[in-house]
Amino acid sequence: MFVVLLGPPGAGKGTQAQRIAVATKLVHISTGDMFRENVKNETELGKLAKTYMDRGDLVPDEVTIKMLLERIGRDDARAGAMFDGFPRNVVQAQALDEALAAQGGRIDHALLISVRDDELIARLGGRWICRNCGKLYHERNDPPKAEGVCDACGGELYQRDDDKADVVAARLEKQKPPVALIDHYRTAGVLTEIDGERSLDAVTASLLEALG
Ligand code: AMP
Repeated sequence: MFVVLLGPPGAGKGTQAQRIAVATKLVHISTGDMFRENVKNETELGKLAKTYMDRGDLVPDEVTIKMLLERIGRDDARAGAMFDGFPRNVVQAQALDEALAAQGGRIDHALLISVRDDELIARLGGRWICRNCGKLYHERNDPPKAEGVCDACGGELYQRDDDKADVVAARLEKQKPPVALIDHYRTAGVLTEIDGERSLDAVTASLLEALG
């Protein structure tokens, strides 16, 4: 089964993807995580990606698609995967469709998590990530038991550079899922829209229900 999670920055894609991956055993593929890993390791790809990420821009399609195709070519993603943060536009969606078709697969579900703008801004400001294991937290909605410390592994929590106020506004403006992308999956008959302004557990339950 191949699943894409769609939604604006701050809709909860990353948090929900982590939960669904545990519940379904689907491999979680996040292009944002892949770029952050490259930035951390100071690879050439990371240096290039950082110039876009710091401005709240999308990394160019050719770079992102190449990285994603390389990832889904690995053995662990052959039987299925859940994509989080990819595709961001129709060009990326078509590249993914073609790659999956070449190995006899297709996107079975596109889950769109919807949240209003004012709520997104409040959420992005309060997000914290474990430097060690990548687990996501939110000051208000999903705080760690001890401030600044990961419940799961004891790692240090940090805020993403692109969660700072000026970049957040740019990301919201530039990174909402385009209508054409949503229509791409609606036309394919695989789109489910989910209200993301409920508790984490309620949203997870709806997502799992949509996956059957
Ligand atoms: P995310 O963790 O999904 O919010 O992604 C963090 C940043 O990585 C984004 O602001 C983009 O700069 C970049 N990025 C992640 N996924 C993509 C993608 N599919 N296409 C282009 N840029 C991406």
